[in-house]
Amino acid sequence: MKVWIKNGRLIDPINKLDGDFDLLLDKGKVSAVAPKGKLPAPQTKGAQEIDAQGLIVSPGFIDMHVHFREPGFEYKETIQTGCESAAAGGFTSVAVMPNTDPVIDNRSVAELIQARAREIDTVNVFVIGAISQGLKGEKLTDMGELKDCGVVGFSDDGHPVMSNELMRRALEYSRMFDLPCIQHSEVLDLTEGGCMNEGLVSTELGLKGMPTEAEDIMVFRDIALLKKTGGRLHVAHISSGGSVELVRQAKAKGLPVTCEVAPHHFALTDEAVRGYDTNSKMSPPLRTQSDIEDIKAGLKDGTIDMIATDHAPHDLVDKQVEFDHACFGIVGLETALPLSLALVDEGILTMSSLIEKMSSEPARIFKIDRGNLTEGKIADITIYDTDIKYKIDVNSFKSRSKNSPFHDWKVRGKVIHTIVSGKIVYTAAPLMGGSHNKV
Ligand SMILES: [Zn+2]
Repeated sequence: MKVWIKNGRLIDPINKLDGDFDLLLDKGKVSAVAPKGKLPAPQTKGAQEIDAQGLIVSPGFIDMHVHFREPGFEYKETIQTGCESAAAGGFTSVAVMPNTDPVIDNRSVAELIQARAREIDTVNVFVIGAISQGLKGEKLTDMGELKDCGVVGFSDDGHPVMSNELMRRALEYSRMFDLPCIQHSEVLDLTEGGCMNEGLVSTELGLKGMPTEAEDIMVFRDIALLKKTGGRLHVAHISSGGSVELVRQAKAKGLPVTCEVAPHHFALTDEAVRGYDTNSKMSPPLRTQSDIEDIKAGLKDGTIDMIATDHAPHDLVDKQVEFDHACFGIVGLETALPLSLALVDEGILTMSSLIEKMSSEPARIFKIDRGNLTEGKIADITIYDTDIKYKIDVNSFKSRSKNSPFHDWKVRGKVIHTIVSGKIVYTAAPLMGGSHNKV
C-alpha cells in the first residue's frame, strides 16, 4: 500500500529539511522524499494521494508521558480510547506511565499492555516500568527484567521517589541499562494536603499550597546523586523557574539530565484556579507568570528538551467534587498542538524547533527509532494545518475523559492526518465552513 503526500511544507529537523517536498510511503516505510512535483510517475502509480497544500508535514509527534489507566481504571481511559485520543492529537507514539492497577512493575503487566496495544494497532505504545515495587518507594523493581521486555524508561510517576538510597540505586541501574529514570519531582512533606501552587492566589482562595521549593529541592537532590552515579535523569513535567535553572546549570556541567514541560504549564497560571474549576488542579500545580517566563526561556535555550502532555484522564466522579478533594490532572493529547503552536506565534520556538520538541528529541532521549523522515525509516507522520481557527470542544475528544480546562478556548492549528507505519489512523472531520479534509 503506497501513500503519496504532495504539495505540503515538509519539515524534518533531523534531515534539516524545511520546504516544498513530496513524500512517498510504501510498505510502512518512507520510500522517497523529493522536491514538489519531482517524484517520477511510475513510482507514485497506484498510490493513495493526500493533497497537503497549505499544510505542514512532519515526523509523527511522540508523547513520552501519558496515563492510559488500563489495567485497573478503564472507566477513565482504556488503551483503545487513549490510542484514539493520541491519533486525534497527531501523536504516532506514546509512552504509558506505570501507575495502573496492577502497577507496571513486572514482566506480566508490561507484556499485557504491549499485547493489547498490538491488538489495537493504532499508535505505537511504549511502556515505562516502575522504579519501585507497587510504586511504594521501598523496594526496587527487577529493572533488568523490565528492560528485557522492552520498557523505554523507569518512573514512579504520580509519586516521587522520596528515598535517597532508592533513587541512587535506580540511577545506577539507569546507567547500566542506558535508560532514563523519570522523576516526578516533589518533596512530599512540603506539599502534603496541598491542592494548588502556594502563593498569593492560594492565600486569597484559602486553599493549601504546594510551594515551588518542593519541586526544586527534589531536582537538586537528583542532580546531586547523578554526579556520582552517572545514568540518566529525566525530570518530568517541570513547572518551576527554579527547577529550570537547576537543570540549566547541570547541563552546563555536562551532566546527563533532560526534562520535559506539559503545555498547561506554559499556557496557564494559578489564576485559572480562581473559579475553583477542578480542571485547573494538577500536580505539579499551575504556577505563576514568572515561572512561565522561565519555562519559555528554558524552551528557547534548549534547557527544556521536549514537550509531553502528562495526559491524565479522570471521570466526572473524580473531578466534580470540592477542589481539595478532586483528583490531580487533565487530559492533554488533543490540545497539545494548538497550545504549543502559540510558542511559535510568540517567537519562542521556530516551527522546526517545536517539531524537535514534539518528535525528534523525545525519540533521541528514549532511544526510539522514530522522529525523522529519512528514506527507509518507519513512516510515522503528522500532517497539520496551522491556520484553522476553532473552539476547543471537550465533547469532541476521542478520550474517554473530558477533564480539560481548555474547553471553549479559541485556538489555531489542527491535526488533519495522523499516519502510523504508513497507515492513516486518523483524519479530521471537516470543520464548519472549512475544507481541510483533502484526502
Ligand atoms: Zn507526574
